[in-house]
Amino acid sequence: MPTAYITHPACRNHDTGPDHPENASRLFAIEDRFVESGLDSVLRYVDAPLVSEEQLLRVHPQGYIDAIRAAIPESGYARLDPDTVVCPKSLDAAYRAAGAAVAAVDLVMGGEMDSVFCGVRPPGHHAESTRSMGFCIFDNIAVGAAHALEVHGLKRVAVVDFDVHHGNGTEEIFENEDRVLFCSTFQHPFYPFTPLRENSSNRICVPLPATAKSDEFRAAITDHWLPALAAFEPELVFVSAGFDAHRDDDMSHVALTDGDFRWVSERIMEIANASAAGRVVSMLEGGYELNSLARCVDAHVRVLMDLHTSHA
Ligand SMILES: [Zn+2]
Repeated sequence: MPTAYITHPACRNHDTGPDHPENASRLFAIEDRFVESGLDSVLRYVDAPLVSEEQLLRVHPQGYIDAIRAAIPESGYARLDPDTVVCPKSLDAAYRAAGAAVAAVDLVMGGEMDSVFCGVRPPGHHAESTRSMGFCIFDNIAVGAAHALEVHGLKRVAVVDFDVHHGNGTEEIFENEDRVLFCSTFQHPFYPFTPLRENSSNRICVPLPATAKSDEFRAAITDHWLPALAAFEPELVFVSAGFDAHRDDDMSHVALTDGDFRWVSERIMEIANASAAGRVVSMLEGGYELNSLARCVDAHVRVLMDLHTSHA
């Protein structure tokens, strides 16, 4: 099944300073892996466009966009919050990262691609409508989902988020949007320390203890996500694909394996195949241990393409 890889050189120029875990080597590791594994020869590489003001404004108010612009330094670094560092080139990267989501939606809804993986940074799922945080400036996936609703007229889209951190931004942005079902698993209690609430008709959040491994993770998906997703019948499935729950990634305590990320990707594809004609837009969120990140992204993309992995 044709799958695109959307990225842009600008996403490598978002310099977060020395020793920051969210850095350009993440994208280099993923792309090197695609070459080693041969995926580069079957993926369609697409340059991310700049997001338009109109597209951003569906998710973030003008005052917030203006404040981000004003916060970008002319030289050196600036901090939007204790974790979120920007450099003079970060605005271009953030506009490309959000633009990738929009382009991905247009590719799958136009029938050119079945699925898209966006290898972009800064990531997005912690960015609330009026607050940047947790390495995120704009909520890229929310910009994509809003585009799917407003421009393509979809009535039901799902956003599933298996990053080890709660996608507080996506949750906040779609809090009162019944056309979006948000499903999330995350270590709890843990950053960003969103208070737990009862699940609702458009929000399925499943906290995982710090000791969680494969069994708890898979049970969370099987028992909570999948019934809700099957009943919702999404017309398009978005994935906030974070790989920082991997046991080799010291950003969290949850200890998943390569096999777990492949497994959850397969379950997501089953949902997409059942009601969304296989349409998936997946966007990189976290994942900071470069080896496991690159392997798991490769495996995730192979599942989107219905390619079998040649290794365990
Ligand atoms: Zn994360």
